[in-house]
Amino acid sequence: MNEYVQEVIDSARAKYSNQPEFVQSVQEVLGSISPVIDAHPEYRKVDLLNRIIEPERLFKFRVVWTDDNGQAHTNVGYRCQFNGAIGPYKGGLRFQKNVNESIIKFLGFEQTFKNSLTGLPIGGGKGGADFDPTGKSDAEMMRFCQSYMTALYRYIGPDIDVPAGDMGVGGKEIGYLFGQYRRLKGVWENGVLTGKGLSYGGSLIRPEATGYGAIYYLNEVLRQQGDTIRGKKIAVTGFGNVAWGVMKKASQLGGKVTYMSSPTCYIHDEEGIVTDEKLNYVLDLRRRNQIDLTEYAEKFGCECHQGKFWGVKDVDIYMPCATQNEVGIEEAKKIVEAGVRYYIEVSNMPTTNEAIDYLRQNGVIIAPSKAVNAGGVGVSALEMSQNSERLVWTEDEVDQRLQHMMVNIYRSSLEAAQEYGLGYDLIAGANIAGFKKVATAMYEQGIF
Ligand code: GLU
Repeated sequence: MNEYVQEVIDSARAKYSNQPEFVQSVQEVLGSISPVIDAHPEYRKVDLLNRIIEPERLFKFRVVWTDDNGQAHTNVGYRCQFNGAIGPYKGGLRFQKNVNESIIKFLGFEQTFKNSLTGLPIGGGKGGADFDPTGKSDAEMMRFCQSYMTALYRYIGPDIDVPAGDMGVGGKEIGYLFGQYRRLKGVWENGVLTGKGLSYGGSLIRPEATGYGAIYYLNEVLRQQGDTIRGKKIAVTGFGNVAWGVMKKASQLGGKVTYMSSPTCYIHDEEGIVTDEKLNYVLDLRRRNQIDLTEYAEKFGCECHQGKFWGVKDVDIYMPCATQNEVGIEEAKKIVEAGVRYYIEVSNMPTTNEAIDYLRQNGVIIAPSKAVNAGGVGVSALEMSQNSERLVWTEDEVDQRLQHMMVNIYRSSLEAAQEYGLGYDLIAGANIAGFKKVATAMYEQGIF
């Protein structure tokens, strides 16, 4: 490994030993870009790597809200403006109990390279709060979102920082957040948030975009192997918005999702989650925060098991769509043992670095999340374009652009890996392609 890269990884490890997710993502990205640094010795002089792993700024703020019984609660909110070299900071907000600085920083760091890969002018950012939306009423969600935005609004804007949804933040929450932004600022700046409702500047296909994009990317991987999605069975973790988009597009193209999971259990539906009735039911489960999937199993006559499904053999493709670090070394061993050839990451950093190495050594074809899930934020950037032009594109137009974007992401990753003699390595390729543009922009903009 390049000496400068190693130094920066070691110092990040020591300096941020209390931020394991962040250190993991730094190791993953920098571990791949060593050959680029070999080719650009001038980056060391301007200390580009220590600069790129340090967020430009990170806001941390108190969010106080009152529940339906009049009881006040205090949460911690975050917004990390990680890197603005190629465009306004862009990335989602995550409302989840376990949110902390390490998780927000890893997501912001990943987002920086993912956004660069889309080919669109968006920098990297991420935010959220350690707030648990489970069991909250609409009125409580609204009050929380209003309080969160009251703390955040002065730091964001259509040309500054454009948040969106992530886990725990969907269309409903974006509506409350946008309402409060408009109320506080007294302006019509709907380009300040993406994932909006269609009545106030949302883009068609945005809810489906991450899942659809993942399947478009998968198509390219399969094509490279002389294969297609037709007849393929897929196991997904999660049953949220992203998993739903995967199910829907897979079924349109003749594949089927036969396993899906929640944090506590999984279902096996041999017929596939392919009909509108089933797909809508999944959306509804999520909307009701219903993590016990027995309800689905009973309604559609299939099996529901406790635990995780890693190791099932009767699928062709695994697609983790739930959260970070779902697959460690134990799960990776089960995947290899099951003989499943394709492992397509969809959620952000679902695999530990050790598990990635193991899968790779054992010949599993791996696609990295920062490329596979980039269609979500990519369509967010298209939403921003529509907002600034004050027009609305058709469903077809957005979908076509999404497809092109995913094919381009796949190809540019492939070319980047080939340029550095790395062969068919989609992980290194995505990291290199994403890194190069951000690094060039930072270098050309001077030292700060
Ligand atoms: N939270 C999503 C992601 O991880 C979407 C971000 C966005 O649309 O800005 O990329």
